Amino acid sequence: MAANLLPDHPSNGVKSRSTKTRREEDRDPGFAQEVARTPGGEKLFECIQCGTCTGVCPVSEYMDYTPRQIIGMARQGFRREVLSSRTIWLCASCYACAAYCPAGIKITDLMYALKRMAIAAGLFPTRFPTPVLAQEFYKMVKSKGRSTESWLMMWRFLRTQPLDMVKMTPLGMRLFLAGRIGPGTEKIERRADLKNLSDRLER
Ligand code: SF4
Ligand code: SF4
Repeated sequence: MAANLLPDHPSNGVKSRSTKTRREEDRDPGFAQEVARTPGGEKLFECIQCGTCTGVCPVSEYMDYTPRQIIGMARQGFRREVLSSRTIWLCASCYACAAYCPAGIKITDLMYALKRMAIAAGLFPTRFPTPVLAQEFYKMVKSKGRSTESWLMMWRFLRTQPLDMVKMTPLGMRLFLAGRIGPGTEKIERRADLKNLSDRLER
C-alpha cells in the first residue's frame, strides 16, 4: 500500500492513539465541574458516549484521544491528560461532531474552552506546532497590532522543530525573492493603547 503523504499518518506506521495508562490517583474531582461551567461544556454530563462525534470527525485518526474519549476523560477528572492532549489542538473546528451529536453537545466550543484552559495552565504539548503558533500569534498581535507571517513561522520552527528550518530555507528564500516575505514586522500606531486594552482584558 502506498504511504500516506502526511508523515504522522497511522498508515505510515506512526501510532497516533495514546496507550498511556490512566490511574485513579491522577483524577482531579473538580475538573469536570470546571469544564461544565465553561461555554460549550454545559452539557458535559449529558454525553452518552455513543462515539458519533469520533465517527464523523475528519481528523480523529490523528488524535491521541478521540473526541468521545476527551469528553469521557474530562468527565472523570483527568485534567492533565485532557489539557496536554494533541486532540484539542488538532480539532479543525469543522462542527461536524456538534451537528450530529444526539445529546446536543457543542463539542467544537468545548475544544476551544479546553485550549484556553490548557494555555492558562501551561499544560499544552510544548513542541506541538498548533499551540505554539496560537501563543506566538497572540503575543505578536498584542505587541504590534498585526501578525507578520515570516516571524510567526520562524518562532513556530524554533520552538518546535528547529532542524526543519534548514529544510524550509529554500522555500523561504523563494518567498523572499518574490517579495512575499521580508525581515521587517508589520505594526500599527498607538500600540501602547492596544497593550493597555489587552492587559485590562487579561485581568
Ligand atoms: S456524539 Fe455527543 S453524545 Fe455521542 S459521544 Fe460524542 S459528545 Fe457524547
Ligand atoms: S469540530 Fe473538531 S472534534 Fe468536531 S468533528 Fe470537527 S475536527 Fe473533529
